[in-house]
Amino acid sequence: MEEHTTGNFIQNIIDEDRAAGRCPDGIHTRFPPEPNGYLHIGHAKSICLNFGLAERNGGLCNLRFDDTNPTKEDTEYVDSIQADIRWLGFSWKKHMFYASDYFDKLYAYAQALIAKGLAYVDDLSAEEIRTHRGTLTEPGKDSPYRTRSVTENLDLFARMKAGEFVDGEKVLRAKIDMASPNLVMRDTVIYRIAHTHHHRTGGAWCIYPMYDFAHPLSDAIEGITHSICTLEFEEHRPFYDWLLESLGFDANTRPHQIEFARLNLTNTVTSKRKLRQLVEEHYVSGWDDPRMPTISGLRRRGYTAAAIRRFCEEIGVAKANSLVDIAMLEHCVRDDLNENADRVMAVLRPVKVVITNYPEDKEEWLLADNNPTRGGHRFLPFSRELYIEQEDFMEEPPAKYFRLKPGGEVRLKHAYIIKCEEVVKDAAGRVAELRCTADLDSKTGGATAGRKIKGTIHWVAAKRALPAEVRLYDCLFETDENGNVPDDFLAALNRNSLETIENAWIEPSVRLTAAGKSYQFLRMGYFVVDPDTRPDHLVFNRVVGLRDSWAKAKK
Ligand code: ATP
Ligand code: MG
Repeated sequence: MEEHTTGNFIQNIIDEDRAAGRCPDGIHTRFPPEPNGYLHIGHAKSICLNFGLAERNGGLCNLRFDDTNPTKEDTEYVDSIQADIRWLGFSWKKHMFYASDYFDKLYAYAQALIAKGLAYVDDLSAEEIRTHRGTLTEPGKDSPYRTRSVTENLDLFARMKAGEFVDGEKVLRAKIDMASPNLVMRDTVIYRIAHTHHHRTGGAWCIYPMYDFAHPLSDAIEGITHSICTLEFEEHRPFYDWLLESLGFDANTRPHQIEFARLNLTNTVTSKRKLRQLVEEHYVSGWDDPRMPTISGLRRRGYTAAAIRRFCEEIGVAKANSLVDIAMLEHCVRDDLNENADRVMAVLRPVKVVITNYPEDKEEWLLADNNPTRGGHRFLPFSRELYIEQEDFMEEPPAKYFRLKPGGEVRLKHAYIIKCEEVVKDAAGRVAELRCTADLDSKTGGATAGRKIKGTIHWVAAKRALPAEVRLYDCLFETDENGNVPDDFLAALNRNSLETIENAWIEPSVRLTAAGKSYQFLRMGYFVVDPDTRPDHLVFNRVVGLRDSWAKAKK
């Protein structure tokens, strides 16, 4: 694959910082999810980046839950986030924290700001605050409460905490500059009242810090050296710097924010809000639906952690937003499975074949190789009745059709050359059975094994084959010609994104398989065992097809 980035600009910044002696205690990054949804492929990029930089530079990476918005958060998300990061192959060791661990400290920092005359309690409503804020071209207006004394502010803030006011009645705001060209600097709200149960602190608090207040302070409290975030936070940086400076954090050692472009993928959405809507309104079966771009969805789909890490490495880290072709992610998955998945034979849409010159009671076990790079062998049963793929037979084939046709010959992979002698139809005129003869000297080692036959097809022996349900997936959304999903993403849902095949047949070697194990079904693609599998009911998901549009496009 082509190189997409030359190095990583964040690594260059780290190198400079170290050379200048700015990180005497080493590099310290963090991954700071809000536990209000499951992680998706965009988060994987941030995880690989933050944990990867820490690993590469002998530093540490914290996992910190930015849990300052109790109405949207839940422990289900806290648990799934940890499971997904571990599955991706990263460890925070003992460094797992919650912004809610710091609620007392954050409250004290807010008091300190008030004491310095740098924050005030405002009685304006949310709507009034918005209209007072001004626009990009017009300065904002001071709130009439902006000039409250320190004493009054301290008292009111304490009473906010004590629960004397209802939601929305008052807020605490930073006192900066209502005429600043940067809207974030126009007296950002830093505390709000919310009489809401928090999944960790329970009923202890009825005021909660805003993200813009809690996030940079949490970083500072944890000694984060490089606060890496996505581009939309660029204009928040002056506020973060103002806040830390106002509270006396040493400019040399306090966290420095570095922004990078978020990952956008073609054919899918990576907005938690939208993903949540898909789940809650039952457009998909859950957060781990194999069509979802969530880590849990990709895992169930059969994408491997190694492939996702490799993808994140390949796309690199950029300063400008762009759209990455999902074919590139599929390419990484295919590459990994090509090397690691065992080959087996499965017939998804069967048609029966009877080998008329093969004795009814005979059965033999033929040797077959499992994987061209990793080796290994298994035995395949062969007997008189087989299944082949419907599309591997044509009654009236076009020229250059090298599969089975009336009077024609084809090689059965790992077995004999067969010839189609007779086509049996059902009452509706559909092909019910193909009666064939086998060249019984043509299996490996036989006298006619080397006979030149243009087509080779896969098959399974009917008597021993295992029935299976196979789920085939397509993109969840229809897109424009560039792969963008329209804003009205629900209207763009692809109605044919899931096709379920109830009656596929698989060779018996997969009998003792377990959820998560992947195979290449010869000629049909890569498949993984779904967790819905039961001992008497195999369920497979197609991971990806065999054709690689990305690799081809790069040639
Ligand atoms: P929200 O809209 O809920 O804030 P979010 O996607 O920002 O959604 P967070 O839980 O705040 O979700 O994200 C955790 C971290 O993952 C943040 O540092 C964020 O910058 C990063 N991140 C989120 N989405 C992407 C993406 N598409 N590409 C790269 N990084 C991302
Ligand atoms: Mg966020």
